[in-house]
Amino acid sequence: MRAALACLAALLATAAACTAEPVAPRTPPATTPPATDRSTPSIASASDPVPTPGPSDAPAPAPRFDEDRAIRTVQELAVGVGPRLATGRRFLAAGALLGPRLVSYGYNPRRQVFAVPGGDSWGVPVHPGRSFNLVATPPDYDPVRPYAILGAHLDTIAVSPGAEDNASGVAVLMELARVLRADSALPIVLVLFGGEEPRGPGDLHHFGSQYYVASMTAQERRHLVAMVSLDRVGVGRTVPLYAIDGGPTDLRDQLERAGEQAGVPTVVGTNTGSDHESFADAGLPAARVGGTSYAAYHSADDVPGVVDRTQLARVGRLLLTWATGRTPGR
Ligand SMILES: [Zn+2]
Repeated sequence: MRAALACLAALLATAAACTAEPVAPRTPPATTPPATDRSTPSIASASDPVPTPGPSDAPAPAPRFDEDRAIRTVQELAVGVGPRLATGRRFLAAGALLGPRLVSYGYNPRRQVFAVPGGDSWGVPVHPGRSFNLVATPPDYDPVRPYAILGAHLDTIAVSPGAEDNASGVAVLMELARVLRADSALPIVLVLFGGEEPRGPGDLHHFGSQYYVASMTAQERRHLVAMVSLDRVGVGRTVPLYAIDGGPTDLRDQLERAGEQAGVPTVVGTNTGSDHESFADAGLPAARVGGTSYAAYHSADDVPGVVDRTQLARVGRLLLTWATGRTPGR
């Protein structure tokens, strides 16, 4: 039976997006503790009966998470495309690169266009304009049935190639899309968000996810079991897991247990520096994976060498365990 789809964030004084410090690192215990009752249903408990695979599903072996393929995606975005300001042509190019790939994985991607203000992108003046979310639904997605969302922001600040922030999260999301297309306990909608990074005035950010949440129907809200934002997931040896400060921790707890099951060390805390905040603010179950501090943050030095393929593999392993209830082979 498939089981669960299942920091105190020290935001920098500038309260920048994507900036967080985990608190106490923890390593997995020898055994997984028993699950406790949760007010938020796990993916498994919210799921309808497990579907029987169709004839066409039977012969193909399940693909495995390939961190080398993920690293290639990081290189394609950070080197091949470059800085991906939410309103820029390179952001468009990034969407054009990944959209057909999502189609090849069996998803139906569409652009959700929204306006962003002008202001300041980490020291660079930017004009108002339009950006988009790339929203990819799997064939079995039905807004009147339980589903989950995996998100990763595709944009960067003006000057950064954004290998870690956030080609790393996009790359893991793309690998999960390839591996999970027929294997998650529930349909998973994938969203590559635009306009996550601050562009002012002030510290305004998370425009794409705020627009996405505002556009959700009552049915879509009611049946959303979990939203997980992958943001900066390729640095460090432990995987940060965040709820928002003062919010429910059920989903973060699910992810923590998946880490224990998968043998992936995690650190837990609270953080509002990514797109999960937009969902949590609307009362929807949301968490962030990733956010370890690194020296090249929001700079031109955020290049693929910053990203550790082994850490991408840890994050992939944790999320596959969470999404399928099974620990993938090493
Ligand atoms: Zn980020």
